[in-house]
Amino acid sequence: MKAERLLAKYRDGAHLREAIPLDIGHFAEFQLDANIDYQELTLEGSILEMSVFQDLKKSIVREGGAKADIVFPAQTIVIDHEALRDSPASRARFTIAHECAHLILHQNIYYRDPLIESA
Ligand SMILES: [Zn+2]
Repeated sequence: MKAERLLAKYRDGAHLREAIPLDIGHFAEFQLDANIDYQELTLEGSILEMSVFQDLKKSIVREGGAKADIVFPAQTIVIDHEALRDSPASRARFTIAHECAHLILHQNIYYRDPLIESA
């Protein structure tokens, strides 16, 4: 199974031997080679997060509400820190885990069209 193959490579398979907490940020960075970036994606908070499969230019909201275009490099997980501001830390971890799954499972689908984003 895919999850077991991935976990066998991560921290020498420690998570397959014992039910121990997984630091999802560490897993994203060191197992998936992903960057986690915190930005405000929309003023209304309608996009909580996205995975970037190829370098992607996207507008974000700057301090004070002005929009600006920035380029997110491939393998970036972008989290809207404003949209998650009042949520418990467990929700941010779940959100990062969800985006990790997109990066693991959906590279082939999204690679063809860089404009497709996930939410
Ligand atoms: Zn999703």
